[in-house]
Amino acid sequence: MTRGIPLGMQGARAHAGALPREADAVIIGGGIIGICAAYYLAKLGLKPLVLEKGRVAAEQSGRNWGWIRKTGRDYAELPIVIEAQARWEELAAECDDFGLRRAGVTFLPKSAAQLAKYEAWQREFGAAAGTVMLSRAEVAALLPDAQDPWGGAMHTPSDMVAEPFEAVPAIARAAVRAGAMICEGVAVRGLLRGAGAVSGVATEAGGVLFLIHISEATRTD
Ligand SMILES: Cc1cc2nc3c(=O)[nH]c(=O)nc-3n(C[C@H](O)[C@H](O)[C@H](O)COP(=O)(O)OP(=O)(O)OC[C@H]3O[C@@H](n4cnc5c(N)ncnc54)[C@H](O)[C@@H]3O)c2cc1C
Repeated sequence: MTRGIPLGMQGARAHAGALPREADAVIIGGGIIGICAAYYLAKLGLKPLVLEKGRVAAEQSGRNWGWIRKTGRDYAELPIVIEAQARWEELAAECDDFGLRRAGVTFLPKSAAQLAKYEAWQREFGAAAGTVMLSRAEVAALLPDAQDPWGGAMHTPSDMVAEPFEAVPAIARAAVRAGAMICEGVAVRGLLRGAGAVSGVATEAGGVLFLIHISEATRTD
């Protein structure tokens, strides 16, 4: 039997409430980006609304490999992913279990030249990322089924993995508990404009007015 991603249009809507007419913020799309935006806005005390044309996490956010890794990252990305790993641990504590674990990530080179590149990356960023080089014997001990030609590997024990198709729905449920609204099966068709600004969205199920409703407590300027 072939098992696919357990999310998709064939599934029942987990978020099937009526379309509200107003919201503090309207977020188009219930992938990881939209759902996290809703979660953090709700934690600030706002009532954001996520409009998802299909199902939460049924597009790319439910299909990736789920790695949350520092290994091999570009210099500019490294501080972001270190911060992201801390946020993921907070999310794991605040949401239903979604399988987050520090499983470690190992880059196995396919050539001596690639191994040399990994060694150069590890020399420069290994201390910040917690990345070490493994010898051939250490690779064999860690991955008994790995076969030559690997003469070593770049390994970060603290790198993480989570189940994407469980993580996004779990964060969505936590967002709703915190006050967010989510409507699945509602595509946004366009933006409503008034007084030179975006004032709402037009959906296939009607319009939603976006309220400029940021309280003093949540202002950052
Ligand atoms: C093979 C592969 C592996 C990956 N592995 C990793 C990994 O290990 N780690 C990692 O961090 N990233 C990984 N990624 C990248 C990651 O999956 C994506 O960057 C991320 O899921 C994008 O999230 P998103 O919320 O921006 O987009 P999406 O998940 O695509 O969500 C957008 C949502 O918006 C909805 N939408 C679009 N238009 C409308 C509309 N008009 N009205 C209402 N809804 C609308 C869509 O239905 C969709 O649900 C991988 C990507 C690929 C391809």
